[in-house]
Amino acid sequence: MQTFISVAEARTLILEAARPMGAEEVVLADALGRTLAAPIVSRDDIPPFENSAMDGYAVRAADLQDLPATLRVIEDIPAGSYPERMVEPGTCARIMTGAPMPDGADAVAPVEWTEEVEDGTVRFNQAPASGKHVRPAAEDVQRGEEVVPAGTVVTPPVLGIAATLGYAELSVRVPPRVAVISTGDELVDVSTALGPGQIRDSNGPALAAQVKTAGARALSPLRARDDADHIRHVIEQALGADVLLFSGGVSVGEYDYVKQVLDEMGMEMLFWKVRQRPGKPLAFGLLQDRLVFGLPGNPVSSAMCFEQYVRPTLATMLERQTVLRPQVSALLTAPTRKKQGFHYFARGIATYDDAGRLRVRDTGPQGSNLYHSVVRANCIMHLPEGLENPGPGTRVQIEWLDW
Ligand code: AMP
Ligand code: MG
Repeated sequence: MQTFISVAEARTLILEAARPMGAEEVVLADALGRTLAAPIVSRDDIPPFENSAMDGYAVRAADLQDLPATLRVIEDIPAGSYPERMVEPGTCARIMTGAPMPDGADAVAPVEWTEEVEDGTVRFNQAPASGKHVRPAAEDVQRGEEVVPAGTVVTPPVLGIAATLGYAELSVRVPPRVAVISTGDELVDVSTALGPGQIRDSNGPALAAQVKTAGARALSPLRARDDADHIRHVIEQALGADVLLFSGGVSVGEYDYVKQVLDEMGMEMLFWKVRQRPGKPLAFGLLQDRLVFGLPGNPVSSAMCFEQYVRPTLATMLERQTVLRPQVSALLTAPTRKKQGFHYFARGIATYDDAGRLRVRDTGPQGSNLYHSVVRANCIMHLPEGLENPGPGTRVQIEWLDW
């Protein structure tokens, strides 16, 4: 087992252990937020036929050289119908947006350019160039084209293009099942009145919500007392999960039994302790083929370790295109306290100034028990190991917290 490793080493060990989930077919209506297991490939040209971009008249542009010009209307082509007649010289067809272009015509004159004349003829006061207001077949998508790659999260427009292309079902990754296990004798449920020395379990609900926003499935929440037998009993209830997330019980305290019990159950511990703040006592290992995270119990540590390690793990299991949040550079506007030798995940508030430059400052006191610092933050500032007490003007990398 490795210990006191860097953030990069921890992430590498974790992501190398993550295996892709299987695929399943879901109907389109259930696909929102899921991750594509196969690309969406077009089976058709879109649009499938040349059609009008305007309500107006399909014409031969050459007929409208001298204005005003009058043409005879031979047919009405609403959307959803198909033209039956050829537009010969001296004639035109009334056409609606989206309706197929008739043979012979090469342009559409919008209705606003015309005046209807009583005996089935139309006068044109303005002329379209050849090809004007005509949408070519396959202008949007060509048959055989990969329109959306595998690993893309299904968003409303992905649903829309899938429907356009006739995908009634999509192949998506099975969501990883995640067991969230809060440990600690001091913890009670949110609906329970607090007794002496008790606090409410906040990491349980927060982690379950983080799991959901990461595209995974949180199993029923579990809580274990600081008692080896009880922890073992609770772990046995969680063995149906792909990922076990422990909150608390991984520090060096006398009642921190989680590692010991997992060890007795045959867990291969890959590392314990990372050179980071918050979250130094983070533990990671494998219990058969399950990934096991021991997240430190302080709520800030729990939240940040999830964002830095668990969310990318779930994205890897889902084979997502994007595993890590992108980072952008921002200018620190106020000093923040930091000692060397640890990578800090400082909670920050970032804003653009009037000149469009990105500025950031910390949210205030950064203790790992001060949950408020997470609630107020809109970003995480990455302060690397070598940096010490950075002052105003220091460039730092941030990642937006979009949750
Ligand atoms: P531990 O990692 O078990 O030593 O816990 C560190 C700190 O986090 C202690 O102050 C705990 O009371 C607190 N803590 C542990 N688990 C939770 C939880 N599920 N919700 C809120 N606070 C917690
Ligand atoms: Mg504890």
